[in-house]
Amino acid sequence: MTTTTKNKYHCMQCDMTEDKCDCEKYCCSCQGQVDIRLCSDGLYYCPPCRQACGYKVSD
Ligand SMILES: [Zn+2]
Ligand SMILES: [Zn+2]
Repeated sequence: MTTTTKNKYHCMQCDMTEDKCDCEKYCCSCQGQVDIRLCSDGLYYCPPCRQACGYKVSD
């Protein structure tokens, strides 16, 4: 696996990085829309669900 930018995750739907992704952003776990970030599995999560699952954002 080679990536042009290190430590950047790609959206599972459009394969873009988070800043280029134009998908509708909502938590794939609870459908929340507050402070949604792309996580290491290519899906978006809200803060509580990220913490619950132990996911990290790309920053
Ligand atoms: Zn996307
Ligand atoms: Zn959530």
